[in-house]
Amino acid sequence: MEAESQASAIIPLALPKGAEKFCELCQREARLQCSKCRVTFYCAAEHQQADWVGIHERICQLLVPIRALTLCSLRQTSHTETQIKKLIEICRLVAQSKLSEGKHQEALPAAQLCLRCSIDVHGPNTVQLVPAYLLLAEANMGEKQAQNDFLSQAEWAVLKSPKCGLTIHHQLHRSLGRLHVAAGDLDTALHNFANDIYFATEEYGLDSTVTSRGYFLMADVFTKQGKIPTVHSLYSEVARIWHRHLTRLLETRKESIQNPPVDSFYAERVEVDEMLRTMLEFEQKDTRKDPARIAVVAHCLAMLSFLGGDFLKVIQTVSKLGPQHKEKKKNQASQRFHFIDTILVHTNHFFFFKNTIN
Ligand SMILES: [Zn+2]
Ligand SMILES: [Zn+2]
Repeated sequence: MEAESQASAIIPLALPKGAEKFCELCQREARLQCSKCRVTFYCAAEHQQADWVGIHERICQLLVPIRALTLCSLRQTSHTETQIKKLIEICRLVAQSKLSEGKHQEALPAAQLCLRCSIDVHGPNTVQLVPAYLLLAEANMGEKQAQNDFLSQAEWAVLKSPKCGLTIHHQLHRSLGRLHVAAGDLDTALHNFANDIYFATEEYGLDSTVTSRGYFLMADVFTKQGKIPTVHSLYSEVARIWHRHLTRLLETRKESIQNPPVDSFYAERVEVDEMLRTMLEFEQKDTRKDPARIAVVAHCLAMLSFLGGDFLKVIQTVSKLGPQHKEKKKNQASQRFHFIDTILVHTNHFFFFKNTIN
């Protein structure tokens, strides 16, 4: 069930004297406030609605302690700083998942807040602002000037701090790669994704899910270039990494099934779901369908939905797998064993799921 966004006129008496209020999105003078948290302000209902959909719905109550304290004392305690850092992470993940769904406009409020909070914690002109600049550059798809401004700020911040971490370099190259894909410059995009993978590998390892996203993005470029065998091998690698990662997550969840999924997992799930669906569609469309490859990706999707508590999707994914099993030729023995093996793992999880809801 989705919560409704609500706004009311600002009650000046409820605020510290002389504190002028500005719109969360455009920084113009505010006339409305969010009636749920009462610490967020808007110029008009239109911006309140856009912010609600973009990010506010998820962080409305989280803002109350942070902003109430800042309003009263204008002094940040270390606890507030921890809260703001948590907020930055949520904004980053929400903006990221909206971007990967192609909702650039909707990603803007989260990306903007990510930058403002990052400035609050780290100060202006710091390398820690780079992830926020990159999100803003991507969210401003189609606005060439704004996009270039944010990218230049990001590149400048990285140049200024030669000792900045590998993560920043990997994020910078990933964003540059995505932007070059959007601009149709595929060779430059590939060059950036290769750098992205290099830095991600240095920081997280060859088999990490962070690095796998780089393989996926690279595969997307190869698809556009018609290099299908390369796409297959990259997708297999991505599927292998995620299969292992999700299996492990599922094992941990078995021990603590009552734990609700954390917010950060939800945001990541949207992105990973999108990625796996693209891969599944690609494998299914292929003229020489490989059931084993399809099964691994489908199993990943089922595990992901399961972990997110979306049991209906688990059943849908499992039932879709049935007919393909029958379609298979009898001489593909090794593939069949691989496939049945996967189905068995599936079934285990399926029973586990049934036990959970009973
Ligand atoms: Zn506004
Ligand atoms: Zn609110």
